[in-house]
Amino acid sequence: MKIRKNDTVLVIAGKDKGKKGKVRFAYPKDERILVEGINFIKRHSKARKQARQAGIIDLEAPIHVSDVMLFCDKCNHPTSIGFRFLEDGKKVRICRSCKEVID
Ligand SMILES: [Zn+2]
Repeated sequence: MKIRKNDTVLVIAGKDKGKKGKVRFAYPKDERILVEGINFIKRHSKARKQARQAGIIDLEAPIHVSDVMLFCDKCNHPTSIGFRFLEDGKKVRICRSCKEVID
């Protein structure tokens, strides 16, 4: 999967379109990511012994990777991801706009 944990992404579809956030978890099998502050859903929770909060709580829900673009810190722009091989054969991601290595 192109998007990974700790990437900064820009949401390009859905109700949080235009928002930016940091990827907290990646679920490569489902091609979904959990982004900080994005896609809050309301959940009703009953008061339980262990529960800190009762009533309605906000939870972040994972979104599909196709709903986001990687936000490049180097050129300060949302970008698509390319790949490049380093001299030692290692495959790295690059920003398609500024060609900088992302990782
Ligand atoms: Zn860039």
